[in-house]
Amino acid sequence: MTVQKAKNITWHHGSVVKQDRERLLQQKGVVIWLTGLSSSGKSTIAHALEENLFKRGHLSYVLDGDNVRHGLNKNLGFSPDDRQENIRRIGEVAKLFADAGLIIMTAFISPYRADRDQARSLLDDGEFIEVFVKVSLGTAEERDPKGLYKKARAGEILEFTGISAPYEEPLEPEIVIDTDNLDILQSRDLIIRYLEGKRIV
Ligand code: ADP
Repeated sequence: MTVQKAKNITWHHGSVVKQDRERLLQQKGVVIWLTGLSSSGKSTIAHALEENLFKRGHLSYVLDGDNVRHGLNKNLGFSPDDRQENIRRIGEVAKLFADAGLIIMTAFISPYRADRDQARSLLDDGEFIEVFVKVSLGTAEERDPKGLYKKARAGEILEFTGISAPYEEPLEPEIVIDTDNLDILQSRDLIIRYLEGKRIV
C-alpha cells in the first residue's frame, strides 16, 4: 500500500459529475485493461479498438507501455517494486481518464495479479474490464516485433516477463482473447461486442 504523505488535503467536488460528462459523450467512462505477455498483441488490439471507436464517434485513449515509461514513469525500471509502482500510477491515471468520461485502454504487461486487482479496486463495479490477451510463449517469441525475446534469451535483457520474470494469468478476466487463434480484427471485435452488450457504447 502506498501511504498518503500530504496532510490537510481535501477532495474538491465540482458541480459537473462523471454522469454529466458521459451524457455529453454518449458513452460510459471505463477502463479496458489489457494484460498479457510482450508481443501478445495488447498495443495492436488497443489501437485497432481506438480506431474503430473513433469512427463510431466515441472518445477513447490508449495508454501504452513504452510511451508512459518515456514520461510519467521514466524514473522506473523493471524490478518487482518498480513494476508495482508503474502499474499503480497507470491505474490512477486510468481512473482519472474514466472519470473524465473516456474509454481508456491500457496496454501494459502488468504481470502481477495483485497490482491489477489494485487498479480494479480504484473503480466502481463494471468500470474495470480486464482483458487477458492470451498467447503461447512460442507464438510470442515468433512474433517478437521488437526483438526483445531474442535479447532476453541472450541474457541482454534481465527480468523479462515469460523468460526470466513471472506472469500471473488473470483468474476471472471479463474477456479472454486467444490470439494464437484469432486475428487482430476478430480480437478487436470481441471487445466491441462486450462494450455493446454492456451498453458502454
Ligand atoms: P504487445 O503490446 O502485447 O507487446 P504488440 O501489439 O506490440 O504486442 O505486438 C503484437 C504483434 O503481433 C504485432 O506485430 C501484431 O501485428 C502481431 N499479431 C499477430 N496476431 C495478432 C492478434 N491476433 N492480435 C494482436 N496482434 C497480433
